[in-house]
Amino acid sequence: MITFVFPVYNEEQSIAKLVEEMFRVREKIDDDVEMLFINDGSKDNTERILLNYAKEHSSIKVISFSRNFGHQIALTAGLDYARGDAVVVMDSDLQDPPMVALELIEKWKGGYEIVYAKRRSRKDGFLKKLTAWGFYRTLRTLSSIDIPEDTGDFRLLDRKVVDTLKQFRESSRFMRGLTSYVGFKQTAVLFDRNERFAGETKYPWRKMAKFAWDGITSFSMIPLRISTYLGFFVAILSLIGIGYALFMKLFFPDITVTGWTLMIIAIFFIGGTQMVVLGIMGEYIGRIYTEVRNRPLYIVKQTTNIDAH
Ligand code: UDP
Ligand code: MG
Repeated sequence: MITFVFPVYNEEQSIAKLVEEMFRVREKIDDDVEMLFINDGSKDNTERILLNYAKEHSSIKVISFSRNFGHQIALTAGLDYARGDAVVVMDSDLQDPPMVALELIEKWKGGYEIVYAKRRSRKDGFLKKLTAWGFYRTLRTLSSIDIPEDTGDFRLLDRKVVDTLKQFRESSRFMRGLTSYVGFKQTAVLFDRNERFAGETKYPWRKMAKFAWDGITSFSMIPLRISTYLGFFVAILSLIGIGYALFMKLFFPDITVTGWTLMIIAIFFIGGTQMVVLGIMGEYIGRIYTEVRNRPLYIVKQTTNIDAH
């Protein structure tokens, strides 16, 4: 069986089109297919539309969260509930064309355990492309994991990979990083990424910034290390400054008023760096705090067509 996982958040305009397209895709697949929709607390008609489909097709399964938990968490729930021997994860706004899944499945049958769909082209705004480019570069420089370029979360995962990923329960999660991290036999399939079928992006800048920061902090300690270096650097400068001040005081007592400039600079400089360092430390401590509380990653309000397991 092959499971398709769709995180959905306020996609009432795209969802019917997506399901219809999926029916066409399913006809071309020999194996059983289940479609798992993770309704991430949608506030529009998404849920009603999905439940209507689910009533008529037992292969359409719906998991509704009690509120919006975010895309990455919805993906996680998808992997938790998926029953298939392979799981295809994709966006539900038709930016990831469902037909491409057929190529992913073909590669999987050829023995690959992770097949990611790589964008040959994308139709997004200039700013989005630029920030994405900058983000992946930074991430690659700062961390030791190698996230393939131009890939989103559209990919196929073998059952072995899914079972491995299910063991990662961190709450600030970055699924792309985790799938690279676990290894296995990986390959790519090229595709042209469409424009969003309807509606607005569900990733406003605020969510995107959180996503980027989660990615960097879950795979890199370098920001912390930079703050240590910065601390050392400032400490050495301060020592030189102190030496200079004492020297002037001892040997040129009549012109000591000159110390004023140095003092002002020192106060600002040390104060500023300390703030930066404390801020970075605070970020990591915040993350430790969230992980230590060990809260459930998501809260399910209702499941439809899911057998108890
Ligand atoms: N999504 C979600 N929860 C959220 C935000 C987004 O489940 O809080 C889903 C959304 O419905 C879509 C996918 O995640 O299926 C990707 O979101 P979107 O298309 O808005 O992101 P973009 O393609 O603009 O980066
Ligand atoms: Mg999209």
